[in-house]
Amino acid sequence: MCGIVGYIGKQKALPILINGLKRLEYRGYDSAGIAMLENGDLQIVKQPGKICELEESVAAANFTGNVGIGHTRWATHGVPDRKNAHPHTDCRKRLAIIHNGIIENYSTLKNELILKGHTFVSETDTEILVHLIEEFYDNNLEQAVRYALAEIQGTYGILVVSKDEPEMIVAARNGSPLLIGVGEEEYFAASDASAIIRHTRDVAYLDDGEMAILNHKTFVTKTIHDKPVTKYVERVSFDLEQIEKGGYPHFMLKEIFNQPETIRDCMRGRLMLENGDVRLGGLEVHLDQMLKAKKIVLTACGTSWHSALIGEYILEELLRLPVEVDYASEFRYRNPVLDPETIVIVISQSGETADTLAAVREVKKMRSPVFGICNVVGSTIARETLAGVYLHVGPEIGVASTKAFTAQVTVLMQIALLLARRKWMSAEEGKKIIRELQAIPEKVEKILQLDQKIQKLAELYGNSHNFLYLGRGYNFPVALEGALKMKEISYIHAEGYPAAEMKHGPIALIDENMPVVFIAIKDHSYDKIISNIEEVKARNGRVIAVATEGDEKIKERADHVIYVPQTLDFLSPLLTIVPLQLLAYHAAIVRGCNVDQPRNLAKSVTVE
Ligand code: GLU
Repeated sequence: MCGIVGYIGKQKALPILINGLKRLEYRGYDSAGIAMLENGDLQIVKQPGKICELEESVAAANFTGNVGIGHTRWATHGVPDRKNAHPHTDCRKRLAIIHNGIIENYSTLKNELILKGHTFVSETDTEILVHLIEEFYDNNLEQAVRYALAEIQGTYGILVVSKDEPEMIVAARNGSPLLIGVGEEEYFAASDASAIIRHTRDVAYLDDGEMAILNHKTFVTKTIHDKPVTKYVERVSFDLEQIEKGGYPHFMLKEIFNQPETIRDCMRGRLMLENGDVRLGGLEVHLDQMLKAKKIVLTACGTSWHSALIGEYILEELLRLPVEVDYASEFRYRNPVLDPETIVIVISQSGETADTLAAVREVKKMRSPVFGICNVVGSTIARETLAGVYLHVGPEIGVASTKAFTAQVTVLMQIALLLARRKWMSAEEGKKIIRELQAIPEKVEKILQLDQKIQKLAELYGNSHNFLYLGRGYNFPVALEGALKMKEISYIHAEGYPAAEMKHGPIALIDENMPVVFIAIKDHSYDKIISNIEEVKARNGRVIAVATEGDEKIKERADHVIYVPQTLDFLSPLLTIVPLQLLAYHAAIVRGCNVDQPRNLAKSVTVE
């Protein structure tokens, strides 16, 4: 998920690696490290913290070798500390690996490798891969990597070196980007071109299931099943900034467009279609406690609070338990009624949100079990909660949260399914939900194709002073989140309401200058929301409806319709939020706002 850079050639590798890692810093990371093949030896320097600190640590070593690999880590398995930082080595310290991605079957493989006598020093999934390569290693690194990869499930971009074959770097990819940079008698490998563009613009992009073997004179590409593949060397014409944003003008847009992939990542290795069940490693040992709960409290701030509201609807529906949602800032100061039979789940992208952390500490004083849903592994909330579930969507850089929101909802859905399956739900029912969950990324992709249409809407309404967002049921929190996105980045005043509340006040605001966004999908409250649309139209309000594909009738009532594919009611927020994220984004562009750094906002609110 983070960064990889490697070098083999005639120059000193170290400055190339350090510079490359600095170029990858924009992606966010928690630790970094390098491995150098140095006079027949393998030298490793790694640590948590910034690249400039790593640079200081390596300065004294005065490495002069021409072969090396470097990594920035965004922890998924194991806290960000020195032992978990990459590169990882085998038992005999002959091999070093760097890895981006997640190895899903690592715990089974780890047990097998321990039985075979391997000793592990980290908590990462990555370390099993280097031990597996060691298991197959007989002075043929390429072959050993190939054999090892055949055993693993998951995503990876890897570079591997061996001190016994110091003239070689082996690279492979599946689901995590990797490219080879071609110089003159020197080769580079990197997770994105920005790391190497200073040295060469000629690159060959590896595809999933492919590997490359680099040495000083040449590079060879093949599939991981040993079939040769010819790669075309392309010239990178983008500048650095464009590469960093993956060709998108802003990180926020990139993150919106990445959602099909990030939702997949968030479900990776967790859904078991065969038995209609879910596996969430972090919660396993606490399942009994969770199943005994008489009440669930969800607490969070901002966007995470909106996903908590969706969680409330989902958990109540699937568990038939009372669920309460609270702003962390309120929860910590009022005197909440908690007992050991109430479980608390806190949600925070960064895992550092001050109010949410304070809420965790309050809950602990009252002896209720508290669980966390965070994106940042090893963050304070992740450490202070009893257990939890990570989002696994990689660093979110845009200040206005998008991919973390859809992942939080996905995690809440998975928790609800896990518990419901143990309480009452049949395997068949579980399978039905899992099939729908697995179809969500493709449906999001379809919605993203409406980008230009939504851009036109933003051009039409981007100069409005106010926006109203209305939804019901699972899509009432989506109305709140849509309004929040609009406020955060375009500075247009926007309010979200449950649609039926409109007549208790906001209806007074409606006139021909008020765009009203309705989430009007075909669910059980469809007819009611249609009446609400009529009420707005009767007052000359401008209606933008997010509706279900095939609903032709809504065109007669709404001024504009954005269609989303059909799904189960409780999964619909994963679809309906996407056009609202795009609408906010384009409105901000129309108004010339700084999308990635909106005024007055911080990415992680670590102050009260
Ligand atoms: N899953 C690996 C780890 O936690 C790699 C993380 C990354 O992509 O940086 O160490």
